[in-house]
Amino acid sequence: MKKHSYVTSFELIRKKVLELSIGNKVEEHLKIRTELNPAQLEDKTVFKRMCAVILSSGFNASIVKNMWDQLKTEFNDFDFTVLKDWGPEKIEILMKNEKVIRNKNKIRAIIHNAKVFNNLIHKHQGFNKFLQENKDPELLFISIRDSFYFLGSITTFDFLKRIGLNYIKPDIHVRRLFHRLGWIDSMKETNKNLSTIFKIAEYISTETGFNLNYIDGVFWLFCSGYKEVMTGPICCAIPKCTECYVKHCKYRKENNG
Ligand code: SF4
Repeated sequence: MKKHSYVTSFELIRKKVLELSIGNKVEEHLKIRTELNPAQLEDKTVFKRMCAVILSSGFNASIVKNMWDQLKTEFNDFDFTVLKDWGPEKIEILMKNEKVIRNKNKIRAIIHNAKVFNNLIHKHQGFNKFLQENKDPELLFISIRDSFYFLGSITTFDFLKRIGLNYIKPDIHVRRLFHRLGWIDSMKETNKNLSTIFKIAEYISTETGFNLNYIDGVFWLFCSGYKEVMTGPICCAIPKCTECYVKHCKYRKENNG
């Protein structure tokens, strides 16, 4: 695959995503992603976003979004300084509460992580200071993934992105798209595939000037068709190749799309 093809494909995908926007909602959505700045977030907001990632894991994003207000009420606004003192009895109470997502591992993780986050904040005098002391993206990723419960590789990327750090999240949507385009060997979450995804995204970022959060957003919208901002997906489980501008796609050529 020639390198310029990455940028060409990205631009064609971006063109399609913008075309499917409801009003200018896609642009607004992408703008919010690029404007996020972790240095401006309070520690409590950072932890709240971690909880949102944990609760959303395995669900359609809109499920947790629609429940968010009641979840905040039942989890004391996800205030880690309060949650850190919740014990096993509180977990049992929450497991009987119909207003929360009754997944014991997720509830346990939120309470456990509140303790870990509280310790981290005290040790580094704030999350922002912690980020300043951990500037290497790969080491930061490993540190977060290995310190907190219920954060695997993909959910850690999701969390880091949600607090404004510049990453591409190599989730199933991105892996499937990159595989169909012929950029990675399989859809599997292997180290080789993740590394290739990061390199390609970095290359597109350098060539286009868009940051990784923006690029991630374009790919994600193209595959998921986030219905709050656009009319539908293109490269979803059953891809709509005839509506897609990427004519040189490997999958398309192989399937006469
Ligand atoms: S599989 Fe189809 S929809 Fe997806 S990128 Fe290729 S041509 Fe476009």
